[in-house]
Amino acid sequence: MKKLTYLLLVILCVSLFFACKPKANSQSESQSNSVSDSVAHVHDFVNIIATESTCSKEGNIAHFYCKRCKKYYLDSDGVSEISLEQTKLPKIAHDGKKTDGTPSTCTQAGTREHWTCTKCGNTFADEQCAQSLVGSKIEIPPLSHDLYYVAETPVSQDNNGQKEHWKCESCNALFLDEDAQISTNLDDLIIYSLMKIPDFIVDVPSGVDPIVLQLTDTQIIDGSQSRPTVSSGDRITYSPDKIPRYCYDYLTEIIQETDPHLILITGDLIYGKYDDNGTLWQSLISFMDSFEIPWAPVFGNH
Ligand SMILES: [Zn+2]
Ligand SMILES: [Zn+2]
Ligand SMILES: [Zn+2]
Repeated sequence: MKKLTYLLLVILCVSLFFACKPKANSQSESQSNSVSDSVAHVHDFVNIIATESTCSKEGNIAHFYCKRCKKYYLDSDGVSEISLEQTKLPKIAHDGKKTDGTPSTCTQAGTREHWTCTKCGNTFADEQCAQSLVGSKIEIPPLSHDLYYVAETPVSQDNNGQKEHWKCESCNALFLDEDAQISTNLDDLIIYSLMKIPDFIVDVPSGVDPIVLQLTDTQIIDGSQSRPTVSSGDRITYSPDKIPRYCYDYLTEIIQETDPHLILITGDLIYGKYDDNGTLWQSLISFMDSFEIPWAPVFGNH
């Protein structure tokens, strides 16, 4: 009986000895131990190497993690157990660089004052980099226009008028509608007085003397249109095929030679009684327009 008690005591001691014996040292992930856990716990360690903390991620110290008992140890012998928290290294501080804010306008978004970390590139609302700002939070949306109504100024004979419109007090933008959807400009708002509509603008470069070519009394006749009261001889003398030779060729020559900024024809351009259908007059207009030089006629008695 005494011997049996002694044997049981020895078995108990051996069992306790194997209760959590570490596996052989390992610097890398251990292979599963072949010894049955029901007999004794042998740690199955993963060697966790140390990683440095960054400003966006915690680091950790070098340690060993047992996949079986899910505990953490400082040593591969499984002697110094530590908690998960004790494996962690706190994040390091962000290094915030300030960017000044820009105010928004009626049409353009502004930005808030913010700090950007030189290490991780994240943005923050505060110098301590505690309050994170993501993307659009930096942007301040555009203000809406501050519109007021401008009533129409009626046109008169001597003065231009102005169409009704809405103007923004902040940015001076002009709109044709109170919802600021149709933008406009001062030129488009003008209601021209008939007396103020320019026919053309003579553009003379500064430092250059303007050249004005005055033509007069072209007195063109289209004999083919002569009325019955006109002598039949005119039909031959002034047949339309002679117009270039009698008139247009001279005009072309003098216009090319002088290269004027403006051409004035001071009366008696054609004979109306030889142009009842208006084709002669239209022919002269086309001819003068072909030079692409501003020109203006005054009527004469013909
Ligand atoms: Zn273990
Ligand atoms: Zn950072
Ligand atoms: Zn505005």
